Amino acid sequence: LLQSGSKLTTAAKTAWTQFLRPGDTVVDATCGNGHDTLFLAQAVGPSGHVIAFDIQEAAISATRQRLEASLPPGRLPRLELHAACHSRLQELAGSGVARLVVFNLGYLPGADKSLITSTATTSAALEAALEVVEPGGLISILCYVGHPGGMEEYNAVRQICAELKPAYWATSETRLLNRPTAPVLVLLWRCSEPFFGRRS
Ligand code: SAM
Repeated sequence: LLQSGSKLTTAAKTAWTQFLRPGDTVVDATCGNGHDTLFLAQAVGPSGHVIAFDIQEAAISATRQRLEASLPPGRLPRLELHAACHSRLQELAGSGVARLVVFNLGYLPGADKSLITSTATTSAALEAALEVVEPGGLISILCYVGHPGGMEEYNAVRQICAELKPAYWATSETRLLNRPTAPVLVLLWRCSEPFFGRRS
């Protein structure tokens, strides 16, 4: 992961690639301009299912256009794009359906910085993602700590991770110790069977 240097987005994609298989269902909870969504669509292929969320209608249009322009119709997975807050993730995506749920928090570079993820909705969305991801699946969260509110949001994510039952969840974070304001990659793996036979 560290060979990605300061680009923890690349490190995140390395983790996604290890988990995804053709035909999987994947959720992009913050699709923005669709760069990550395109990567996910290519990983799950035409037999896969991509569900994406963004609070901005313009982001949903940009994501649809990027995917349709980049992949020929026969290579497109089933696409389900929601112009909605990701706190509605479980209601709109269903329970235990996704191999991977991806969050890239913060605001869209070059766009209105007030349209930003927040501690309250991110916490609600992460609680929903815990239900949406299937056993054996992964939740990936890229947290930005350098902008106002970012550290509080990251701490809320950490708190939820720290309270998960260790028999059913393994959680980790990757951060650059010599770049304290760089993004932090948080990964949550939902175990397919209880760890070490523990049931608590
Ligand atoms: N993954 C994107 C890409 O590849 O272009 C970049 C995502 S950008 C860092 C964060 C996105 O989160 C913005 O597009 C913003 O509109 C969206 N967002 C902010 N609050 C949200 C919410 N409550 N629910 C869903 N999306 C939200």
